[in-house]
Amino acid sequence: MRMDNERPRRASAGALLLLCLAACGADTTTEDGPAHVAFTVRGRMPDVDPVTYAIEETGGPLAADVFEREIEAALAAWRDAGPVRFERGELGSADVTFGWRSGAHDACPSFGADARIAHTGPTTPGTFVHFDAARAWVPRADEGESLYHTALHEIGHALGLGHSGDPGAVLNAEYANAPAVPSLSDRAALASLYGGELDPAPGDLVIAGDVALRHVAPVGVSDYALLDVDGNGADEVLVWRTDRGGGGALMIYAFAPGPELLSTAGPLWGAVAPGAEVRVGEAVGGERVIVSVYDNGREVARALEETGALRLVTEPVEWRVVASRSQGDVDGDGEKEQVSRRAAR
Ligand SMILES: [Zn+2]
Ligand SMILES: [Zn+2]
Repeated sequence: MRMDNERPRRASAGALLLLCLAACGADTTTEDGPAHVAFTVRGRMPDVDPVTYAIEETGGPLAADVFEREIEAALAAWRDAGPVRFERGELGSADVTFGWRSGAHDACPSFGADARIAHTGPTTPGTFVHFDAARAWVPRADEGESLYHTALHEIGHALGLGHSGDPGAVLNAEYANAPAVPSLSDRAALASLYGGELDPAPGDLVIAGDVALRHVAPVGVSDYALLDVDGNGADEVLVWRTDRGGGGALMIYAFAPGPELLSTAGPLWGAVAPGAEVRVGEAVGGERVIVSVYDNGREVARALEETGALRLVTEPVEWRVVASRSQGDVDGDGEKEQVSRRAAR
């Protein structure tokens, strides 16, 4: 099943644009190796205790009680996975409203024009999840248009999660494995956004003592730095893969005052050369660069564009290291926050 449901994201001034690659690569989560998860974030709900929901029960191919039952089961799976609580609200005022639609409807992309079977509005109170009523839905199954599994995926989007590179994740765009409950990478994304219970792990980046990016930067397969990529006065947290299997991928995490995780850009593949020393800095002219320094001294610089894109710098460029690892103003409040990587126990 395929549930791509990206909608254009409104970019606030100075904010990083979200670059979402639907076909994110696999991660390297293993039982005994470093657990690196490649979740992405597309927004945050201001309050998740509770998130209110409403269900438009009619207009679809499934009975109203079945529709309600499977949606509430999917909500319960997310509740059990982390810090989010759900409460039944009123139609018209709930944070998230679930309903059937078909063809051209509302201000949404039309159903039926492509393979998408459901979609979710922007992550903000008053958002919605629409299911394509013209599909052959079944309440719950490992194959076909499974309402439960689709609702599980879309609720993740409503909570602010983007697509995950983890093939076993509920938020994987292809969602081939159809997990019945959120995976580690789904839960790491949720905990990075909203806190809550998730065992501290090596590879957590702890910011200002109480916010943590979970499972994103394990020692041995990744490194990180702080840099104001988009020049808005707040430092983003950059994490890149150092291992050969990681594809040189770079993730960029942007924060709102608090600090609170707000959005991610990436993965940007090939941002760094695996095995090379990596430095992050600013070129003459102000451009932000990420530079791979090979053993023979050769430098390959890539410019980080404000749009979240990556450009190979072909002309010789002078640059200086400006990034820090231990402190930066990640939320743009004028004061620096401490940043540290949770050590292996
Ligand atoms: Zn999706
Ligand atoms: Zn719609």
